[in-house]
Amino acid sequence: MRIANRLQNLRQALAAKASEAILISQPENRFYLSGFDGSAGYLLITPQTALLATDFRYIEQAKAQAPDYEIRRIAGNVADWLPGLAAELRLTSLSFEAAHTTCAAYRQLDAALDKTKSQVKLSPLDGLVESLRAIKEPEEINLIRQAAELADAAYEYVEAGIQAGMTEKEVAWEIEKTLREKGSQTIPFDIIVASGPNAALPHARPTSRVIGHGEPIVIDMGARIDGYCSDLSRTLCPGKRDDRFNEVYGIVLKAQQAAISSIKEGVTGEEVDAAARKYVEDAGYGEAFGHGLGHGVGLAAHELPHVAPDSSEPLIDGMIFTVEPGIYLAEWGGVRIEDMVLMENGEARVLSQARRI
Ligand code: ZN
Repeated sequence: MRIANRLQNLRQALAAKASEAILISQPENRFYLSGFDGSAGYLLITPQTALLATDFRYIEQAKAQAPDYEIRRIAGNVADWLPGLAAELRLTSLSFEAAHTTCAAYRQLDAALDKTKSQVKLSPLDGLVESLRAIKEPEEINLIRQAAELADAAYEYVEAGIQAGMTEKEVAWEIEKTLREKGSQTIPFDIIVASGPNAALPHARPTSRVIGHGEPIVIDMGARIDGYCSDLSRTLCPGKRDDRFNEVYGIVLKAQQAAISSIKEGVTGEEVDAAARKYVEDAGYGEAFGHGLGHGVGLAAHELPHVAPDSSEPLIDGMIFTVEPGIYLAEWGGVRIEDMVLMENGEARVLSQARRI
């Protein structure tokens, strides 16, 4: 039912682009449209047909997980089997996901089609399935909500024991272990634990650095349940907080609140970004907030919608995205606070509940 609806939506989107057929190779898109979670395979979707092509390792799994699809066994690379399949389906054009196709694979496929005197014209088409994925169905919202709750619980459990003297790596491992013990699948992205000056790097990796008293620690982590991710950042400070920490933390928190209150049906990503950015700029730290405000979360930890200075797309009901302003100061450290929100009945409902300092 769910897959049938998604296929129908995709076919409508394809028709709107005047595209006859599409080859899906991006793993999350493949899973979203078929239910098949094997690590290799392609979907070939036309108005009449839905084929799942995979190799012998996954045939049985594909049959079980993707009953809406006709399963084809393939071998070799896409250039070896696609021309035959395209001829069988009498395709004259085929869209493909350029962002997930290497230049080498494209060249091989193009050459193979030429060699078989195929009529098929290849055309790149990106973002189609990603746009469908941006609007979540009730079951997806439920899973993301569970993933958010799991991350909240793991964070609070570990946070209670964080103290000066531990290394970043120790804290990161405690978080990872706790997430898995509480039921997360493989974690969706490498956990960030960045202390002191390392916290000035928005995407720092945990190091053997020993956390000191009164230093900011940025933690960025997420859980995954049935394929769906959550994303949460908190900044804490063991020991006595100095004036600078309190000032920077207060600005980031207020910027986040300004952004969340600006969210309403139809607002664009750039408008929400601007609400936070203006607050940070007015406080004199504009230069220190160098990344976009947020991003969608779903099967991927980063997906549509973008909530950044260049996002003119409106935010609408069913979207789930992060709101994560940050201030990063070289040699001192940084503060980031990240929560996931669900757009529901034209309002932002905050999904993450992990305690803040
Ligand atoms: Zn994030």
